[in-house]
Amino acid sequence: MNPFQYVRVSSSQSALTAHAKEKGSYFLAGGTNLIDLVKREVIVPEKLVDINKLPMATIEEISTGLRIGALVKNSTLAEHEVVKKHFPLLSLALNAGASAQLRNMATVGGNMMQRTRCSYFYETSMPCNKRSPLEAGPDKNQPNGPSGCGALEGVNRMHAIFGGSSKCIAVHPSDMCIALAALEATVQIQGLKGVRTISFADFHRLPGDTPQKDNTLQPGELIVSIELSSNDFAQHSHYVKVRDRSSYAFALVSAAVALEMKGKTIQQARLALGGVAHKPWRLPQVESFLRGKTASEAVFKEAAQLAMQGAKGYGHNDFKLTLTPQTIIQA
Ligand code: SF4
Repeated sequence: MNPFQYVRVSSSQSALTAHAKEKGSYFLAGGTNLIDLVKREVIVPEKLVDINKLPMATIEEISTGLRIGALVKNSTLAEHEVVKKHFPLLSLALNAGASAQLRNMATVGGNMMQRTRCSYFYETSMPCNKRSPLEAGPDKNQPNGPSGCGALEGVNRMHAIFGGSSKCIAVHPSDMCIALAALEATVQIQGLKGVRTISFADFHRLPGDTPQKDNTLQPGELIVSIELSSNDFAQHSHYVKVRDRSSYAFALVSAAVALEMKGKTIQQARLALGGVAHKPWRLPQVESFLRGKTASEAVFKEAAQLAMQGAKGYGHNDFKLTLTPQTIIQA
């Protein structure tokens, strides 16, 4: 392992300043993904800026809903009374992720920043455009491995069926983020130039020609909090995660579904999928289709077929073309 600096900061301004001083700086919170990446030399940092002392670990009720600090632990959020009562979809998704020990360490901001679990990304002797960007060239001797995509022609059982590119077909690994996408959270971000707010849908991105970029954060920006607006989905929302074993496994496919109902009529619908794309996969066309319909299995089957428009398998992951609509119907 290469030596690196470690600094602990106590204000967001000092965090941003410390981060800006070194090109290879990373913010360290729970470390449940970052430390693995450093150990395996997928990331070779110059500096880790420990932000655990920043005052960003509170959950507050606000006039529009709920504000959740970026350093709130996943387990704290999952068990919070207001979350369980008004945003049970989020609680279900959080508890579907990782293991109890990891949820006790992992933070909300870190969960949003976690990297794909594509096995080629973690194995530095294998080609990977995300770990070793194309502009670096296909030099097999560069420290973090050659460019290319091992998964496109390789073992791609866990990979994307929506939104992939010829450069990368990795999937986003979080469960929490799938629920936050369905609930239309907003993200508050701080940089040296000030604070900005973006919709959750605009936080993660598709790979395109730059798969090394997982999200739209600018260099040195820090996630401060997320906000959830009050809604009428609590009675009719669910998270279904299909995986190889019942705990401590990433989703093959997951579905976060929320319906606002009046009798049997759907007033509003939200649907986001996990395990199928480089970002939480929202399905606005399916949500529009469901609005005003009477809830029934037949309608949900039709919605699930509509959801599959544009889906594409890469061989080993072809089973997701069948599993995904079934997961939507079940949810
Ligand atoms: Fe790398 Fe993406 Fe290809 Fe996986 S799918 S090997 S992360 S470029």
